Amino acid sequence: MQKPTSEHEHWMQHALQLARQAAAAGEVPVGAVVVKDGQVVGEGANAPLARHDPTAHAEVQALRAAAQQLGNYRLDGCTLYVTLEPCTMCSGAMLHARVATVVYGAAEPKTGAAGSVLNVFDYPEINHQTRVVRGVLAQECAAVLAEFFQQRRAQQRAVALANHPLKDTALRNPDSAFADLPDWPYAPQWRSDLPALGGLRMAVVDEGPKEAPLTWLCLHGAASWGYGFRHLVAQWLAAGQRVVVPDLPGFGRSDQPKRDKAHTAAWHIQILQELAQAMDLRHVVLVGEGDGARLGLAVAQAMPGRFAGGWLIDCWPGSTPPRPLAQWLQAAANKPQWEVVLGMVQAGFWPAGQMQQAPLAIPFAQAGHRAALKAWPRVQAQLPAVPQELLAQWLARNRCWITRSASNALMPAQQAWADAWQAATPALREYPAALWQTPAYPMLPAQAAVGAVRAVEYFAASSDGSAVSGPLPSSAPS
Ligand SMILES: [Zn+2]
Repeated sequence: MQKPTSEHEHWMQHALQLARQAAAAGEVPVGAVVVKDGQVVGEGANAPLARHDPTAHAEVQALRAAAQQLGNYRLDGCTLYVTLEPCTMCSGAMLHARVATVVYGAAEPKTGAAGSVLNVFDYPEINHQTRVVRGVLAQECAAVLAEFFQQRRAQQRAVALANHPLKDTALRNPDSAFADLPDWPYAPQWRSDLPALGGLRMAVVDEGPKEAPLTWLCLHGAASWGYGFRHLVAQWLAAGQRVVVPDLPGFGRSDQPKRDKAHTAAWHIQILQELAQAMDLRHVVLVGEGDGARLGLAVAQAMPGRFAGGWLIDCWPGSTPPRPLAQWLQAAANKPQWEVVLGMVQAGFWPAGQMQQAPLAIPFAQAGHRAALKAWPRVQAQLPAVPQELLAQWLARNRCWITRSASNALMPAQQAWADAWQAATPALREYPAALWQTPAYPMLPAQAAVGAVRAVEYFAASSDGSAVSGPLPSSAPS
C-alpha cells in the first residue's frame, strides 16, 4: 500500500502537474492551485512568455481564475498551493486577495518573498495575515525546475556546438569550468571563421566601445591565458577604452589541438593576423606578455598601419632564452604534473599564497589539454626576430614601453636584460627610458591600477613629440 499523502501533498501534486504543463510549453515550470472547502476553485501555470505578460505567474493566474469562479475578488478561506516560493508580486496579490494560507514547495533563494529574501507575509502592520506553510514536496518541486534548466542548457549547448562543432583532433574545456570566474564577467565571442584556425573555435573577449580612441590588444604568453589580464582589462574598461583579449589556440577557452605538432609560431601569428583583419582592429596598442609580445610584434610588423604602439611585458628579445626561462618552459612541457599556478609563483609572476589565481590553471587541468605547453619550447625557438624598424618607429613616436618585473625570476638582472634588448634593437640606445622596470608583475591588482592609467596617459598622448619628455613611471631607470 502506498503511504497516505497529506492534504497538502495531494494539492501540491496537483500544482506540480500544472508546473509540468508549463515546462512542456517552454515556460519556467511553476504551477499553482487555489483550494476552498476541499475543492479546486482556480489553477494556473506560469506563462509570461506565451502571454507576453510579466505578471502571468502561476499564482496570479490561479488567483484570477479563483476570483472569477467565486465571483469575488476576496478569496477568504482559500489556500493557495504553489510549487515555488512566491515572488513579491504574487505575495502582494495574495495579501490583496486575503488568501488564508499559502503553501509552497521549493524555496527560491534569489527572489523568494515568503521568507528567503524577504517575508511579505510577516509584517504585523499589514491588516490581513496569511499563514505560510513551507517545503511541501520541496524536492519534487525543485527537481522539476532543475530538470527544466538542465534541458535548456543542453539545448543551448547543442546550438553552440552546431555553430562551432568540435573537431575530433581537438579538445574543448566545458563552459561550466569557466562559470563565475572572479573578475572575469566577459562572455567571449567565438570565432571559427578564420581560415588559419582550420575549424577550431577561438575565444576572443571584446569589450568597450568600438569607437574608443585606442584598442588594447592583450596577448598572453605560454602557460597563461586571457584571464591573466583581468585587472588591467578592468582598469581600461573603466577608463572608456576598448580591450580585445584572445585566447591563443591551445590556451584558455579556445579549442586545444590534441597534437602538439599543430603549434608553430607561424601558425599563431597567422591566426592573430587574420583576427586583426576580421575584427578590423585599428589604433591598436599591443599589450604582450612574454612570448605573446613576440607574436604580437610579428603581427604588427605584418600590418603596421593597424598598430599605434606596444607595451612589451617581461618579454625576452633573443632567440636563445635565458636559462631559467628555458628550464621553466621545459618543466611546463615535459612534466604532466607541473602545476601551472605554482609555476607562475616560482617565476615571480604571482605572489605565493594567492591561490585565487587558480583559475589560470583551469585550461590545463588535464594532461590531454597540455599540448600547447608541450609544444612551447619548440614554438619559442621559431619566433621571428624582434622587428627593429617597427620598434624604432614606435620609439620615435613615443609609443613603446618595454618593461621587466622586478620580481621576475626567469629573466636575467635588469642590466643584462636591457643589454639584450639594446642588442636586439639598436634604436633603443637613443631611447633608454623606454626600457624600465615595474616593481611587480603589471597584471597584479595594485600594479595594474597604476600601470593601466599611466599607459592610457602615455599611449593616448599626442604623438607630435610633446610627450617625449613626459613623466615616466617612478620606477623607470634614470
Ligand atoms: Zn510571482
